[in-house]
Amino acid sequence: MIINNGNLITWREENQILENSSLLIKEGLIKDIGKDLEKKYPDQEVFDAHGQYLMPGNICAHTHFYGAFARGMGIPGDAPKDFPQILEKLWWPLDLALDEQGVRYSALVFAIDAIKNGTTTLFDHHASPSFIPGSLDVIGDVLLDAGLRGVLCYEVTDRNGPEGAKAGIAENVRMIKKASRSERLGAAFGLHASLTLDDHTLEVCRDAIGEEAGFHIHVGEHQADEYDSLKKGGLRVVDRLKNFGILGPKTIVAHGVHIDQAEAVLLAETGTWLTHQPRSNMNNAVGVAAIEDFLRLGIKVGIGTDGFYHAMWEEWKTAYFLHKVHHLDPRRMSALDIIQMGVKNNAALANLYLPGSRLGVIEKGAAADLIFVDYHPYTPLTGGNLPWQMIFGFQEGMVTSTMVGGEFLMKDRELLTLDEEKITTEAKALAPEIWKRYESYVGRYS
Ligand SMILES: [Zn+2]
Repeated sequence: MIINNGNLITWREENQILENSSLLIKEGLIKDIGKDLEKKYPDQEVFDAHGQYLMPGNICAHTHFYGAFARGMGIPGDAPKDFPQILEKLWWPLDLALDEQGVRYSALVFAIDAIKNGTTTLFDHHASPSFIPGSLDVIGDVLLDAGLRGVLCYEVTDRNGPEGAKAGIAENVRMIKKASRSERLGAAFGLHASLTLDDHTLEVCRDAIGEEAGFHIHVGEHQADEYDSLKKGGLRVVDRLKNFGILGPKTIVAHGVHIDQAEAVLLAETGTWLTHQPRSNMNNAVGVAAIEDFLRLGIKVGIGTDGFYHAMWEEWKTAYFLHKVHHLDPRRMSALDIIQMGVKNNAALANLYLPGSRLGVIEKGAAADLIFVDYHPYTPLTGGNLPWQMIFGFQEGMVTSTMVGGEFLMKDRELLTLDEEKITTEAKALAPEIWKRYESYVGRYS
């Protein structure tokens, strides 16, 4: 297929933009880039982009599909007053309420959401203690049927007893093996957070995977995580994880809001990835991570949604604004840093976990994971000002088509792989049962 009349945002050096260009897509890859390619390849089907911007699909470095049914759900009793109460009163009873159908529909509704928002690769961190074995297959099948790419893991925790921890470990080990044979699915070894993992479980997790696999874990999201770790063995969270061999160039830690400088240095020294989720941090009122310091230290920082809807530009914008108001300084958090994290680092992380495809860039040989954006700038748009045009001009509602591996998942705003009306009707029918079970579990963890 040839896509012509596109303005290509390639995310190559200097944010290169190729105006009025064409792409040849074959076997899921970008095979050629140039002008008027339909003359060079006369036998190809042609799709006219009508001057839209074409760019690589967005990547979400940390999310939780399991949180989908929280939307519109009431929390019984007093409103949670801090993040530990949010875990106890909202997330833990909700993930416990998910059965196989609950897991499937959580993934389905978020797959629709991702495609419509132009997000084509997602790192999911999953929990469903009532349905552990096979849960990652359910999510993986949804992603494959939807046509998306994903990196899965099951969050091991001791909060549901030793059997729950054991089942979580087995689920990770199984999926890491299975995903190694898949082009579109990858897998990490999921851990909830230091505060719900004892020493024995961490040791078993470390021993359960080979050196080539990485962990995906929440770190220092709230002070409670740090104080729990200090209480357990006199060490802060990152030091504790280092002692158990959890850190390293394939491990992803989410948040790092409450880590100290020495912990940040450890993340940099071990090549560990960190993901930033500013909407979630603001919503949970946990604080603001020292992201600019982390970048300066050389930590590979990416951006995720943490279970918010998968509008990555909205997450970028939140990061851009949050650090300015937090420091009372409009010079903080440059749009260049946003692009470094949201585009370059997220792509590098995706390429690490999905080595079969070159993601996050438009160039010959890269995967044809593309979004079409109906943006009409009224000031010059150049490689130099693109990061600011993105922050102030681009909106997810402008995404008209989404393609993964050369296949349209949404074409001119029509979803082709998922039936939104049917799925949302079925999810809506399922929600009252899930909410009822959730309510019956509130109070179990406090
Ligand atoms: Zn999270």
